Amino acid sequence: MSDLNTQAVMRYKNSFLKEVEERVEDGYWVKMCMQCGVCAGSCPFGPHWEHSPQKIFMMIRAGKRDEVLKTDSMWMCTSCYNCIARCPRKLPITHIMHGLANYSYRLGLSPKGQPNQAIARLFWNNAIKSGRVNELTFSLAMYFKDGIVQGIKNSLAMQGIGLGLMKAKRLNPMEILGGHTCKDKGSIHKMIAKAREIEDRRRGLA
Ligand code: SF4
Ligand code: SF4
Repeated sequence: MSDLNTQAVMRYKNSFLKEVEERVEDGYWVKMCMQCGVCAGSCPFGPHWEHSPQKIFMMIRAGKRDEVLKTDSMWMCTSCYNCIARCPRKLPITHIMHGLANYSYRLGLSPKGQPNQAIARLFWNNAIKSGRVNELTFSLAMYFKDGIVQGIKNSLAMQGIGLGLMKAKRLNPMEILGGHTCKDKGSIHKMIAKAREIEDRRRGLA
């Protein structure tokens, strides 16, 4: 168990709802859910994931901490915003789902090897490196995330799309050398570090 998770268990004991309210983005909205099921019925992922948002909010209130924080359901959210548009109580459901995913990752409880989680990390690391996403290095990082052999197989499988993008001037092979970057990357890194520090302090995660 990670230190952060042990501290959270000690601090919140049997109040998982309170923990979510204090530590998860927009978590204080969870208690407003009236279990109407509109979000579950509107979600394009409906039958394909373990727990719908409606079920997750019910489980939070029932104190099912491990079941919620260890599921991969939050990582399946496509950010389509159907649920937010239709929720009669106006819950920011998408943000709560991503907030729960991020919190479970910080606690070391999120499912290892979950593909969307791996892609989210690669995307974030790529974006903050220079302040903008380098599509070529991001794609290569995705292809090679499971090793060289799998990376070569993935690259060969995607070569037609890659060549098409190059022909259409949507992909520049010279981006491998670093490509476009934002000016003053150092300040971007400092801003992100400061924002993270403030947010962690506010949520008791520092
Ligand atoms: S649509 Fe809103 S109120 Fe209804 S179950 Fe989903 S989150 Fe709860
Ligand atoms: S935003 Fe996420 S949770 Fe909401 S309907 Fe779309 S996929 Fe489902």
